[in-house]
Amino acid sequence: MAFDIEMIRNVYKTMGERINKARTLTGKPLTLAEKILYSHLDEGMPTQVYTRGKSYVDFKPDRIACQDATAQMALLQFMQAGKPKVAVPTTVHCDHLIQAKQGAKQDLKRANETSSEVFNFLESVSNKYGIGFWKPGAGIIHQVVIENYAFPGGMMIGTDSHTVNAGGLGMVAVGVGGADAVDVMAGMPWELKFPKLIGVKLTGKLNGWTASKDVILKVAGILTVKGGTGAIVEYFGEGARNLSCTGKGTICNMGAEIGATTSTFGYDEAMERFLRATDRNDIADEANKIKEHLTGDPEVYAEPEKYFDQVIEIDLSTLRPHLNGPFTPDLATPVGELGEKARKNDWPLKVDWGLIGSCTNSSYEDLTRAASIAQQAIDKKLKPKSDFGINPGSEQIRFTAERDGLLSVFENLGATIFTNACGPCIGQWDRSDALGDKKNTIVHSFNRNFSKRADGNPNTHAFVGSPEMVAAIAISGKLDFDPMNDTLINEDGQEVKLDEPKGLELPPEGFDVDDNGYLAPIEDGSSVEVKVSKESERLQLLEPFKPWDGKNITGAKLLIKAFGKCTTDHISMAGPWLRYRGHLDNISNNTLIGAVNAFNKQTNMIKNQLTGEYGGVPDTARAYKKEGIPTIVVGDHNYGEGSSREHAAMQPRHLGVIAVLVKSFARIHETNLKKQGMLGLTFANEADYDKIQEDDTFDFIDLVDFAPDKPLTILVKHADGTEDTIIANHTYNDSQIQWFKEGSALNLIKKENAK
Ligand code: SF4
Repeated sequence: MAFDIEMIRNVYKTMGERINKARTLTGKPLTLAEKILYSHLDEGMPTQVYTRGKSYVDFKPDRIACQDATAQMALLQFMQAGKPKVAVPTTVHCDHLIQAKQGAKQDLKRANETSSEVFNFLESVSNKYGIGFWKPGAGIIHQVVIENYAFPGGMMIGTDSHTVNAGGLGMVAVGVGGADAVDVMAGMPWELKFPKLIGVKLTGKLNGWTASKDVILKVAGILTVKGGTGAIVEYFGEGARNLSCTGKGTICNMGAEIGATTSTFGYDEAMERFLRATDRNDIADEANKIKEHLTGDPEVYAEPEKYFDQVIEIDLSTLRPHLNGPFTPDLATPVGELGEKARKNDWPLKVDWGLIGSCTNSSYEDLTRAASIAQQAIDKKLKPKSDFGINPGSEQIRFTAERDGLLSVFENLGATIFTNACGPCIGQWDRSDALGDKKNTIVHSFNRNFSKRADGNPNTHAFVGSPEMVAAIAISGKLDFDPMNDTLINEDGQEVKLDEPKGLELPPEGFDVDDNGYLAPIEDGSSVEVKVSKESERLQLLEPFKPWDGKNITGAKLLIKAFGKCTTDHISMAGPWLRYRGHLDNISNNTLIGAVNAFNKQTNMIKNQLTGEYGGVPDTARAYKKEGIPTIVVGDHNYGEGSSREHAAMQPRHLGVIAVLVKSFARIHETNLKKQGMLGLTFANEADYDKIQEDDTFDFIDLVDFAPDKPLTILVKHADGTEDTIIANHTYNDSQIQWFKEGSALNLIKKENAK
């Protein structure tokens, strides 16, 4: 059994008392999100009221999940912490590194060959530190989590944006960067700004062609890709109870596309049915005992405007199926209206591919509804006009779907069944109809449809829809096909119409699986040796960063003064660099190559003060490092916005950058810099940014007195012999100053551990 029922019982044991205390403190009824947040405080029993959108709070999550691309650096860091085991139940899932090409069998074999080094590393680290390991082919992280680990009222974090999928089973589940996950693995709290709350009231019942996916496609259209930022979206109402558990998962999954911290639903009978169907009767029994704590208070749902920061209402009975896109998931269009819009915008009407799967839509219900359309095509002699690809969400689903004849329906229609993995959803797709960069259209049931996301082609117009709508559109081969009103001509020349999809919430004969792909860690992993070859280009064991020598830093050179936007993508690009996510030195060769040099407005072209020559940022940084000269990065506003990836802090640190001095920081990046033992500083006077010149050298005057709330003084020496004194603010507290002194947060954990 993969889940830990004792852990869940412990969570439930204290939940009621903590919720009651929070209700007393806040003096009001609570939403579900508030109940979960207040019952997962690191301090245990709540002692104060937190302000939504303002207070930073330490939480104690119940679980952690990592996927293979992000787990590499997270686990390499955890190895530095000197802990024998992870402090919180953790799993690793191999799903991102498997390319879809010929079909499951061949693709998995190829991935096991090309990425064996990474998979073996993840497996042995997992075994050593008590982490559950899901082999390549076992399934997509979020589908495996909802089938095995998610539980109502729980809190989890995961090193992937779509960790939020577990909200479908009533969790507060949040995607985080590797450094946050490592802290929790090492027993430290997890900090989050107390979120705002958006309530979505669902009334009515889905019918006909409309699916759960259409709820979130509609919500995305209303809120846009930024509308959920810093908020938890809580769904409630009779309509919510009418949705299946995995349908709720789909809705929560795409909450990431509106920028929401996470989304969640209250515990109900659909969740109970799903728990029992996935062999978790114990959890369902325990959840039933504390039902009232696993959903929002009735007063909240009766007067939502009073208790949520924003309320949206959707009537499922009248909701129409949507296709969102292209290039952004919030461009929502009801299916019948897409043709006109496409013609106006010159989007190709011919659809080349229909792809079903991803962590968003690969449940048993999804496959049955899509298969009911596929079967009609066979029965009504319709030959699909587009290619079909299917990625089942997990081996349990694939095995059950094969047993129940669902996969053969798709195969009879000429579909390729890819591995139970991310595949085309993360650009791991070698398209058989390689079109170069030709303009084309695909439809898929995934969550993201940004340019180049699926196949690397900026001219692929990707539209997001429900699996059944994707099936219908792919059969017709036309983006403007409306299965509710349009007919198709079959092989006999007859006009036929597709009937409404039919699906099954859960397999009538239960789920089944031969080998689910799970490897439990051994009890005592102390003798397990984690091997990383010195020759490896993809993995590198980390060396602890050097502690501060206790002296004022002097003679630091300006590495780059970044102009304008400098996001984590500018600091550590993704794309082909993903391959080196587990090798700090190799991935450091992309450090700041996207940042614009303020002096010549070029990217990756900066002055080496030692030679006077211009060159790339990583090479120049390495040249200073070789001479033992520390460097400084200067930046504009909101420096480090974007993702929470810790590489954006670790790489500059690795290349010898000691301080980042900017007008303002994106907070997560600022914290990441602190964790890696760097100085994250802001200009006390923003105009001082303009004083920084290309040949500047920096002396820290009073770093020896580094203390909370006390700005630092920096003497900036210009090449012409003049000097400026700059005051730099910081937000370091005592323990964060300790991180700086020790060289990194991990060094400190290790030191304390050794005591
Ligand atoms: Fe991310 Fe897509 Fe994989 Fe889901 S299926 S985890 S969205 S890459």
